[in-house]
Amino acid sequence: MPVSHYSLDAIADIQLRLGRAANAAAHAGHDALFVSPGTDLRYLSGYEAKPLERLTCLVVPVGADPFIVVPLLEEPAAMASPIGDLGIEVVTWTETQNPYEMTAAKLGGRVSSVAFDDHMWAEKVFAFADAMPGVHQSAAAGVLQNLRMRKTAAEIDGLRRAGQAIDQVHANMGKWLRAGRTEAEVARDITDAIVAAGHQKMDFVIVASGPNGASPHHEASSRVINPGEPVVVDIGGTMPDGYCSDCTRMYSIGEAPELFNRYYSDLQRAQQYAIDSVRPGVTCESIDTAARSVLIDAGWGDYFIHRVGHGIGLDTHEHPYMVEGNQTILEEGMAFSIEPGVYIAGAHGARIEDIVVCGADSADVLNLQTRELVVL
Ligand code: ZN
Ligand code: ZN
Ligand code: ZN
Repeated sequence: MPVSHYSLDAIADIQLRLGRAANAAAHAGHDALFVSPGTDLRYLSGYEAKPLERLTCLVVPVGADPFIVVPLLEEPAAMASPIGDLGIEVVTWTETQNPYEMTAAKLGGRVSSVAFDDHMWAEKVFAFADAMPGVHQSAAAGVLQNLRMRKTAAEIDGLRRAGQAIDQVHANMGKWLRAGRTEAEVARDITDAIVAAGHQKMDFVIVASGPNGASPHHEASSRVINPGEPVVVDIGGTMPDGYCSDCTRMYSIGEAPELFNRYYSDLQRAQQYAIDSVRPGVTCESIDTAARSVLIDAGWGDYFIHRVGHGIGLDTHEHPYMVEGNQTILEEGMAFSIEPGVYIAGAHGARIEDIVVCGADSADVLNLQTRELVVL
């Protein structure tokens, strides 16, 4: 039985990813990948390591077994993670040792080009540069992005559970969202509900009432919500297995304004059209174009001021991005949001957001709550 709380299947899935990462690194001309704490590390080892000043770094050499360098005091935490189940060698260092030189020594003279995860702290990148003079160093960038974009079946299951959890919060919105309360009061209740629904933590809660709805990334303020106002509620959290949820639904306290109703039905059509456009072989750009063309034709083009979506997985925002200019071809297993919006400055705004997975010939939609305006 695994030592960590990961299932044997989940551990096998991580093992598969590690092998793919080494292959991708070799293909890109690197001799090793260096991965510090963050979602890339979690993706390749299941280890949710603390990002500390002390070095923790998974090294995935091409043609040799991976190992992880950890501070001695973090060894128990590393071993309690899937690192122990995966049989990855743990190299500990004490307070008086130089872990960068230890890493370089362990690799010996076998490497001439190494790639660092994109989010490694600059101080660590420079310390490795000092410890490995003459070794070419670059960002892993596409190497890990391309792997993480293509979700395994186990990852899609994780995203589906995250979708179900956030749907449950939207299903109960009427308990918290009422006239006379402030956005911040409502947001506090939603935060509790996100955790109660099975998330490990809340990542963000947007409650944007009336004119605040015209600002796509407004969070929650001390503004009191009034009758007759539309409210944008965009919420997400991270599940215990690391996969994220992200879903926007629209609410109205009583009857919504006439202008709102006019663009909201067009927005629903735009979002549905983009969902219907998802299939393997089309570009990411085309999903943005699909939603945008409906809104342009209806006269709202100037009010849709952001890309239509972002990839999602262990990070809420990751590759691939559904944006004009992105020629990446959709493949089965890619997961991303479809979230067009209309924002009328000074008045109100609306957004509808679902997470979808590109299936064999259509979108597999992970959020199932109604996309109709919910009148409370
Ligand atoms: Zn956003
Ligand atoms: Zn989103
Ligand atoms: Zn969102």
